[in-house]
Amino acid sequence: MRVLLVEDDETLRENLAAALRGAGYVVDGAGDGVEGQYLGEVEDYDAVILDLGLPERPGLEVLKHWRAQGNDVPVVVLTARDAWHERVDGLKAGADDYLGKPFHTEELLARLDAVIRRASGANRGVRLSVGDLELDEDHQQVRVAGGEPQPLTATEFRLLKYFMLNAGKILSKQRLVEHIYAYDADRDSNVLEVYVRRLRAKIGKERIETLRGQGYRLRERP
Ligand code: CA
Repeated sequence: MRVLLVEDDETLRENLAAALRGAGYVVDGAGDGVEGQYLGEVEDYDAVILDLGLPERPGLEVLKHWRAQGNDVPVVVLTARDAWHERVDGLKAGADDYLGKPFHTEELLARLDAVIRRASGANRGVRLSVGDLELDEDHQQVRVAGGEPQPLTATEFRLLKYFMLNAGKILSKQRLVEHIYAYDADRDSNVLEVYVRRLRAKIGKERIETLRGQGYRLRERP
C-alpha cells in the first residue's frame, strides 16, 4: 500500500511518515501544494493524506484539481482545529474523510485504512480475508485455513495486502512495483519475482497465478 503525505510541517510529516511505515505503508512525502499535486498526478497511490494549509498551493485547490482530472484516489484531509468550514470545504471538494489537528496517529491510521478498504470494496472493521486467507494487519501475519499464523516481512506484507485488496484482478508487475516501493526507491521487477516466490512459499504456490506477459493474479478461491 502506497500513500502520499502532503504536509508542510516537517516534524509532523516525518513523525507521521515513520508511523505509516511502521504500519506497513510505503510513504512519499511532499512539503508544499505544488509538489504534492504533481506527485498525485504522476504516481499511483492507494490513498493521500492532504494538509489543507499548504505553501505554494492550498490543499483545497490541489484536491479540486485532482478531482477535476478524474483522479479518484481516496483522500483524508487534515484541517486546522475548530475550523469546521475547512472540513465542509474539504468534503465538498471531494475528500473521503477529514481529521482536525491535533489528532492521534492511531486515529489517522484507522481512518486511512477505512478509506482504502471502502475504495477497494473490502469490509471495514473485520480482518481482511480472501477465501481462506486471513491477514492480521496488527501483527503483519497471514493465516491459511486455520493453520498457524505466519509472520511477513514489511515488503511481503505490503505486497500481500495489495493482492488481497485486488483479489481476482490481473496486476501487472509495474503496477505491483509501484504500490510496494516508494517514488525514490530502486524499482526492480526482478526483486518483485523474489517476493512473489516468498509469498507463495507462505500461502501456497497455486494461490498466486502467473499470467505470461500480463502479471499476477491472486485467486479468490483456493
Ligand atoms: Ca500546514
